[in-house]
Amino acid sequence: MPAHHLRWIEITTLASGLPLRLAEHTFSGGQPGPSVGITAAIHGDELAPVEALRQLAARLQSAELRGTVRIVPVVNPLSFQAQTRNTPQDMTNLNRVFPGDRNGWLSEQLAATFVAEFLPGLDALLDLHAGGALPTVDYAYIENDPDLSAAFGTKVLYRGPGFPGTFSHVAVSRGIRTVVTELGGGLLRDREYIARTVAGLENALRHLGVLPGEVTRRTDQIVIEQLDTLRPNQGGLLVPGVGVDQLGEVVEQGTLLGTVYNPQTFEMLQELHAPHPRNLMILTRGAATRVEAGDYGYMLAPV
Ligand SMILES: [Zn+2]
Repeated sequence: MPAHHLRWIEITTLASGLPLRLAEHTFSGGQPGPSVGITAAIHGDELAPVEALRQLAARLQSAELRGTVRIVPVVNPLSFQAQTRNTPQDMTNLNRVFPGDRNGWLSEQLAATFVAEFLPGLDALLDLHAGGALPTVDYAYIENDPDLSAAFGTKVLYRGPGFPGTFSHVAVSRGIRTVVTELGGGLLRDREYIARTVAGLENALRHLGVLPGEVTRRTDQIVIEQLDTLRPNQGGLLVPGVGVDQLGEVVEQGTLLGTVYNPQTFEMLQELHAPHPRNLMILTRGAATRVEAGDYGYMLAPV
């Protein structure tokens, strides 16, 4: 039975007087092995990975573990509480300010302390993301370890530049084997995405030698190097033309992805169509959802 230890990473005192601190669960096996970090809710509106980590932690309690697994399920508790992508106190996207600044904005201070407390000693990092409250997404980034990314088990793997200031970029710069996953989001088929996240993490832990057993390999994985985001130019109610069942599938050029309506006048403001001859669907909205101009509408890749 692995030993379980809960530690609080102290960040600061909030204006309310309450402490800002992050729970870190450490599971230590009896045998030597790698140290693997798993993080979620750097963006506080990405909830499915948090539940996946609760389920994974329960399974690790009785697992045959080599090495160490360190889990921080909520890296940004302030944005989790508000269910927002950015930290409400300073309007900042935490995953754009790493490695942070101890004398910067609150999010920058959080980033700096978290880097200092969590990354040292890690051999591998799995940073979990999802589509947020409304969109649903399904892919994983290839950072510096394609086999580890593949082991998580999404059909689509994206080898791309990513964004500056991410937690994963700091981990990569320190030579840590790193995967960023983007799986789930929205409320449709929530249980399925959570189950896939748990299974993907267990498979990645088998690949790393932390859990025993055969690594499952998909044979239908696709590596993409271009990922396009369609952002509506008009806000309103976005009514889907393609559903969550189209994720990982190809749609033809001109396919109606969604329509933005003025929710009050019912005026049709914009239609979003698939731009490429063949489009692999990566992110979609499966239900009628509120959209602002510039929000994530759809993500797709030409194939
Ligand atoms: Zn995210």
